[in-house]
Amino acid sequence: MPLSDATRATETTQAMIEELQQAFGRAVRANEPLARHGTFAVGGPAEAWVTIQREDDLLRLVGLAQARGWPLMLVGNGTNVLYADAGARGIVTRMALTAWSLQAVDSEHSLLTAGAGVSLPKLVNDLAERGLTGLEWGAGVPGTIGGAVVSNAGAHGACTADTLQTARILFTSGDTESGGAPVIRTLRLNELDFAYRHSRFRAARRVDFGDDGQPVAAPRAQIEPPEMIVGATFLLRHTDPAGVKERVAAYRQHRKDTQPVQASAGSVFKNPPGDHSGRLIEAAGLKGTTFGKAQISPKHANFIVNPGGATASDVVGLIALARRTVRERFGVELELEVELRGDW
Ligand SMILES: Cc1cc2nc3c(=O)[nH]c(=O)nc-3n(C[C@H](O)[C@H](O)[C@H](O)COP(=O)(O)OP(=O)(O)OC[C@H]3O[C@@H](n4cnc5c(N)ncnc54)[C@H](O)[C@@H]3O)c2cc1C
Repeated sequence: MPLSDATRATETTQAMIEELQQAFGRAVRANEPLARHGTFAVGGPAEAWVTIQREDDLLRLVGLAQARGWPLMLVGNGTNVLYADAGARGIVTRMALTAWSLQAVDSEHSLLTAGAGVSLPKLVNDLAERGLTGLEWGAGVPGTIGGAVVSNAGAHGACTADTLQTARILFTSGDTESGGAPVIRTLRLNELDFAYRHSRFRAARRVDFGDDGQPVAAPRAQIEPPEMIVGATFLLRHTDPAGVKERVAAYRQHRKDTQPVQASAGSVFKNPPGDHSGRLIEAAGLKGTTFGKAQISPKHANFIVNPGGATASDVVGLIALARRTVRERFGVELELEVELRGDW
C-alpha cells in the first residue's frame, strides 16, 4: 500500500531526529514547544530543538542540515521574537556558546571576548563586580550577546555598537576563499552596518505589513540566518566598581518601575524618529486593549503582554490594531522591533 504524505513526513522527521541524536546526543529534543523558549511564551513546536555549546558543533550542524536539506533556524534567548503558532519545521538551534574572557589592553581598558550565547544581564553583573564600564545599559535586557549584536540592542542612550570592536561570524554559504563551504570570519565594527536597532544581520528580516494591515513575516530560508554570530569583542574601561554597580541597580529599578512583569518581548515597535511608540499607542487610546488573551500593557503601551493563554495570533491581532490606529490617528508608520520567526 502506498504511504500517505503524512506518514512519509513523520518518517522523514523521525529519521532526522535519530540522525541528530546520533550526532549531538542529549542536546536534541523532538517536538519541543517554542513557547518554552521565548519570553512571549507563545509558539508551536519545533520538530527538533538542538542546543549548541561548541563552535565546531554549530559548524557540523550547519553542514549536516545543508547536506540533508533540513530547515535550520538559529535563535538566542528568544526575547525579541514572536514564534508562530504553527511552530517551526525542521531544526531550531539555540546558541549556547557561553564562554567569555577579559584581556588587558592598557592600564585603563580591557577587551572582552564573549561567546554569542552569553547572557547579557548576567555578564553585566559580572563586569560591574570588576569595575568595567560600557555595557551596563544591558542590565535587565534579557537576551544573549548574539541577539544584542543582531538588533544593536541598547537602552538609556547607549547601545551595543558603542563598545563593540569585532564580531565572529559563521557565513553559512561560505565565501569565495572557502569555495562555498561554511566558514567563520571576523568582521570589524564598520562592516556591521549598525544603526538604531539595526545591523547587517537584520537587513533581510524586516517585517512588512500587507494591504490587510497584518504583518507579513519574511519567507523562511533553508538555513537562517545566513550569517550566524558566534562571538564578539568589546572594549571596556576600568573604573570604580561602586559607580558601575549603582548604575546597574538604577537601570534595573527603572525597568521595574516602568515595565510590565507579564510575559512579553519588550518593546514591540521601534521608536519613530523624534517620538516614542509607547506614547503614540497610549495617545491612540489603546492602553489595556485586549485581543484574545493578549493585551497592550496598561503599564507601558509599547509592550504587548501575555498574562496567560495568549497565542501568537492574538499578539499579531494587537500589533495590527496598534499600527493601523497610530497610522490613522497620527500618520506615523510604526516599524516592528520584534521579529516574527517560524512558519507563519
Ligand atoms: C522585558 C524585556 C525588556 C527588553 N528591553 C530591551 C531594551 O531595553 N533594549 C533592547 O534593545 N532590547 C530589549 N529587549 C529585547 C531583547 O531582549 C533584545 O533584542 C535582545 O538583544 C535579543 O536577544 P536574544 O538572544 O533573546 O535574541 P532572540 O530573540 O533569540 O533572536 C532575535 C533575532 O536574532 C537572531 N539571532 C539570535 N542570536 C543570533 C546569533 N548568534 N547569530 C545570528 N542571529 C541571531 C534570531 O534568529 C532572531 O531573528 C527586551 C526584551 C524583554 C523581554
